Amino acid sequence: MKTIDNYNFKGKKVIVRVDFNVPLNDQFKITDDTRIRAAIPTIQKLRSEGAAVILMSHLGRPKNGPEDKFSLKHLVKTLSEKLDTAVQFADDCIGDEASKKAAALKAGEVLLLENLRFYKEETKGDEAFAKKLAELADVYVNDAFGTAHRAHASTAIIAKFFPNDKMFGYVMGNELRSINKVLKEGEKPFTAILGGAKVSGKIEIINNLLDKVDNLIIGGGMMFTFIKAKGGKTGNSLVEDDLIETAKDAMLKAEQLGVNLYIPEDAVIADKFDNEANQKCRPSNDIPDGWMGLDIGVEASETFRKVIEGSATILWNGPMGVFEMDNFAEGTLDVAKAIARATEKGAYSLVGGGDSVAAINKYHLQDKVSYVSTGGGAMLEYIEGKTLPGVAAIEK
Ligand code: AMP
Repeated sequence: MKTIDNYNFKGKKVIVRVDFNVPLNDQFKITDDTRIRAAIPTIQKLRSEGAAVILMSHLGRPKNGPEDKFSLKHLVKTLSEKLDTAVQFADDCIGDEASKKAAALKAGEVLLLENLRFYKEETKGDEAFAKKLAELADVYVNDAFGTAHRAHASTAIIAKFFPNDKMFGYVMGNELRSINKVLKEGEKPFTAILGGAKVSGKIEIINNLLDKVDNLIIGGGMMFTFIKAKGGKTGNSLVEDDLIETAKDAMLKAEQLGVNLYIPEDAVIADKFDNEANQKCRPSNDIPDGWMGLDIGVEASETFRKVIEGSATILWNGPMGVFEMDNFAEGTLDVAKAIARATEKGAYSLVGGGDSVAAINKYHLQDKVSYVSTGGGAMLEYIEGKTLPGVAAIEK
């Protein structure tokens, strides 16, 4: 892997694509600085090796050019504190000011460029725009895993202007290493746990994983499409009727490949979609009309626990139930705890995708699993088996 560990940065200007797409409140205060913190080791490494560091990122989704609420200037103070140096700022990511400030930047200094998405050319992957960014520096580092699945000017196209001087930062490196460790080098037994609302959007993941896993656990709303496909009675549970055939195909493929497919045998059902609803535990294939499954049941939790604790490699994406409501969070909590215990016993565990990351953080178990991916959509596309443009552009 081409990383910043094997390069002489002395006297070089290095442009780094970071993911500083952080949430800001009405007063432009950062409400979650995880992404900024994640980028600090890469920036400090470059500075300590004598590089002048130029940072570029997007923030939010500006529609028509510059908008104050999407300005990266709101990040300068926090970033300066975290890096323990006065970070400079350029009001435009290209043009005279950016060029002058980049040219004057000395070893160890840091310049943050204004939001890339103030230019439509960024998301369009415009080559002339990428070239203007490239002209600011001698070396290109991509450390924005969250946008690696997009062929944008700053995430992929720019790489061609640095044929011998392009590499991954630590965030990218760690994400790729951990996903590859699971998908390509994972010790057996390998268990994948998939949950979340719907089967749609997860079909490619299921198909790609079936070739690799020993056990596939399905929970969340998506379980009911499988249960209906098996002839079960699902009441008012979330079912995607147009995906019943797809679910049948997946079950057949699992059988042919000798993958143990675990569909919850019971479910916590409710008479409305509400934390205060009446609830009971029922066999998941016998849900009365007017009732809907909102969590996996106690027997399913116990089955899953045993499978998870007997695994050497674990991938978890998606909650087992509507964990945002405390009365339907038990199944998700049980799975999170089982993954933590398996990890303690030596398994490698990767948790990724928005809601399972939110769940693991909610239960304060993020330090008890091997790796929590910040990648969201990028990680999901990677486990679907797709080539990520941001990764390919560096590796090419
Ligand atoms: P996804 O974005 O597809 O990973 O779905 C995450 C969402 O699925 C969470 O907000 C959960 O509340 C929701 N979810 C999980 N289980 C169920 C269920 N049984 N019925 C409806 N929604 C569910």
